[in-house]
Amino acid sequence: MRIVVGHLYPDYLNIYADRGNIAVLSRRAAWRGHELEVRSVSVGDALEPGEHDLLYIGGGQDREQALVAQDLLAKAGGVRETVAAGAALLAVCGGYQLLGRSYRDLHGADLPGIGVFPFDTVAGDTRMIGDVLLECELEPGVHRTLAGFENHAGRTHLDADAEPLGRVVAGFGNDGESGREGCRVGRALGTYLHGPLLPRNPWLADWLLTQALAHRHGGVPELEPLADELEAEAHAVSARRAATRGGGRR
Ligand code: GLN
Repeated sequence: MRIVVGHLYPDYLNIYADRGNIAVLSRRAAWRGHELEVRSVSVGDALEPGEHDLLYIGGGQDREQALVAQDLLAKAGGVRETVAAGAALLAVCGGYQLLGRSYRDLHGADLPGIGVFPFDTVAGDTRMIGDVLLECELEPGVHRTLAGFENHAGRTHLDADAEPLGRVVAGFGNDGESGREGCRVGRALGTYLHGPLLPRNPWLADWLLTQALAHRHGGVPELEPLADELEAEAHAVSARRAATRGGGRR
């Protein structure tokens, strides 16, 4: 079966090997006999609602964020309609911040966000850097861990009733204080974790593929399990590093 991915601004927001996330989605789909078709959606391109099963937006620094923010505003309706119609979405770091309501940089300049996620972000004068470990429950009763790396000045403040992606076991997370990391609205996920994220957290790649297939073909598709021995090792190394990190939140 075919899965159509819209990769937003791959030429601007790609700072943390975000292409690695797309490569993982692509291979894991192919190993199950599905075809991932990745279409770049960058500055000036139209985003047609209904075209994509999964949207992906990666990380970038303030400069790149400023270069795409106005264009993203023009796509706000398309992104919101795509998500409301049940497509999956993964937003990482700089892209994650732009999918909230607003981002204020270190100099006090405001960048508008498109409000897919209920939060605001304000840059602080220290960066939050290091390995992170999260505990997530995307399906009721199914507990999983996510391991990754964070590097951001932005402090993201979720609305009180917003759903985070996970609980911080080690690392800073959204703001270094709340113990919450990332944000979830239905099939849309945002996070500061990169490195890239999906090679060491294959269960999340499969969750996204499942949601994307459900969007295109309906039902609850079952993905055949894969061996994932190397991936499990990568996850374990990363999780161990997070658990023993110096400084920051434990
Ligand atoms: N503006 C972001 C920050 O908080 C950039 C995050 C990123 O993608 N590295 O630093």
